[in-house]
Amino acid sequence: MLTDVDRAHLRRCVELATEALDAGDEPFGSVLVGPDGTVRFEDRNRVAGGDATQHPEFAIARWAATHLSPGDRAASTVYTSGEHCPMCAAAHGWVGLGRIVYASSSAQLTGWLAELGVPPGPVRPLPVTEVAPGVAVDGPARGLDEQVRELHRRLHRG
Ligand SMILES: [Zn+2]
Repeated sequence: MLTDVDRAHLRRCVELATEALDAGDEPFGSVLVGPDGTVRFEDRNRVAGGDATQHPEFAIARWAATHLSPGDRAASTVYTSGEHCPMCAAAHGWVGLGRIVYASSSAQLTGWLAELGVPPGPVRPLPVTEVAPGVAVDGPARGLDEQVRELHRRLHRG
């Protein structure tokens, strides 16, 4: 179940995804919200420089490992415009972060990219729960998922 607070954080993720696209990166953005409900860290995709691992969810996992206690990590929520890829789901699981809320799912993205004629990437788009089965997951968010879809259309149609 998504609350109004969840949707507000997801809207920020979509803003960050838009910033990424406008900067020449891929349209993904993510926010880490601590146990007290405050935003602790946020980032966006930064792959245009040539490092395809520069995903915001990975950056969040690393930031959390450095700055948060294990207890605070487990009580934190990661909001993201698109469901974690397997690399980021694994990082999330390894550092012991809590709930994930996404605006759009990997299954949705896979369908959208296929419709756009984009060939599959090098990593299988497994759902988070296949990679990190202990993580609670919510999404997609109706309405916001369509905004994410539009960003991917912009990326691939130019
Ligand atoms: Zn990723």
